[in-house]
Amino acid sequence: MPTLTTTDTIVATATPAADGAIGIVRLSGPQALPLLRQVFRSQHSPDASPAWRSHRLYHGWITDPATGHPLDEVLAVHMAAPHTYTREDMVEVQGHGGSATLRLIVALFTRLGARPAERGEFTLRAFLNGRIDLAQAEAVASLVTARTPVGVQQALGQLDGRLSGEIAAVRALLFDPLARIEAVLDFAEEDVPLPPRATLRDALAAAAARLQTILAGAARGLLVHEGARAVLVGRPNAGKSSLLNALLEADRAIVTPIPGTTRDVLTESLNLDGVPVTLVDTAGIAERTDDAVERLGVERSRAEIGRADVLLLVLDGAAGPSSEDAAIAAAIGKRPGVVVLNKADLPPRYPPAAAQNLLTTAPLCPVSALTGSGIAALRSTLTQLVVPTTGDAGDDLLLGNVRHVAALRRAADHLAAAQATLDSAYPLDMVTIDLRGALDALGEVTGHTVTEDLLDKIFSTFCIGK
Ligand code: GDP
Repeated sequence: MPTLTTTDTIVATATPAADGAIGIVRLSGPQALPLLRQVFRSQHSPDASPAWRSHRLYHGWITDPATGHPLDEVLAVHMAAPHTYTREDMVEVQGHGGSATLRLIVALFTRLGARPAERGEFTLRAFLNGRIDLAQAEAVASLVTARTPVGVQQALGQLDGRLSGEIAAVRALLFDPLARIEAVLDFAEEDVPLPPRATLRDALAAAAARLQTILAGAARGLLVHEGARAVLVGRPNAGKSSLLNALLEADRAIVTPIPGTTRDVLTESLNLDGVPVTLVDTAGIAERTDDAVERLGVERSRAEIGRADVLLLVLDGAAGPSSEDAAIAAAIGKRPGVVVLNKADLPPRYPPAAAQNLLTTAPLCPVSALTGSGIAALRSTLTQLVVPTTGDAGDDLLLGNVRHVAALRRAADHLAAAQATLDSAYPLDMVTIDLRGALDALGEVTGHTVTEDLLDKIFSTFCIGK
């Protein structure tokens, strides 16, 4: 549970808990500098702490004041409020990267009165102190976990406040009509003139259009953030592992001439037009098998088909059609897929029409996993299937956060309802209910209208020290 007070001083290791050249311990709060003074000893003034000019690095040793024992040789910086990440006084200590050393430093600060930070608490403070809004705070988490360069761009766009700016614009378009209608309702006896319905209608239409532009980036944005799952299925020896390798241009899966040896589910990631696509290689989905391990693999293949965003039905072009192919195709059913006719380098035994008949609406790609022929075409076919095309505006501002998309869709629904009410004979106070609903939903994205529970949910997904 993140704490909403910002009066105490928090401390945490800000770098991953692993061995590295350096690791950073950070503090935020009023006691940050006094605590640093207590433990920092420099070469020049072994008995005293330096002058600590803001935003300057100082070299020295973190020393336990109780024992005089040095813990680590470090570089330390004090950053005076408000020009810091949290807008509070902050201290960062760059120590040696071993996590044990960093833990000792954190423990020392804690013993002297700092409190170990909760997940995302530094960023929460930046939000509570008004330096960033909620969408920007979440962008920090997205940036940390981004998996492709497009994902990074998306998070940066959100972090620099572009999403927040767009939402503020929509909110501004709604405030005016709401205020005008409420004035009429509040001062009914004073004969305040009702704004013409046409004017209100125009304002709501403008807001709705702007909201739709933001939402247009949602489908692709979510994919960039969450990624998609492509599952390779096919009978043993069809060439699934080889194809996975060809797609990755790397030999990560074990390729073997013995049927059914890819027993486990293998996963690797591909970057298709900015969307991280997890490739899943399943064991052959043979209908009957006596081998228990193999059967487990088959079960898993079925589960994998259910979880796939797109399926690659891999056929052995050198072996010709089989009933297994038909059984697998039946398991795929109407789900999005590609028929991959593999081993095109060998004499063809699989009539393309028979391959196409397995999944009549799926594209057919002849390839050779061995020579690499057709792989580029397969890649672009997959891209077309997985990555939705967006308009220019959508590309500009990708919405990568499920919570934001849900809130914006709710805002759009309220707006549509308000527009419908306006067009009907219903009294205008019905319109205000939906206008308020739309404004609240928009405010949930930026944090203007937000509950403590929601904050808890959001910041608990952060890592400690962020
Ligand atoms: P899986 O059981 O479906 O994963 O099939 P593998 O990828 O293990 O391939 C089975 C056998 O087919 C291996 O001996 C591969 O070298 C061979 N193979 C896979 N793709 C091709 C191809 O495009 N051309 C040729 N000639 N052999 C291939």
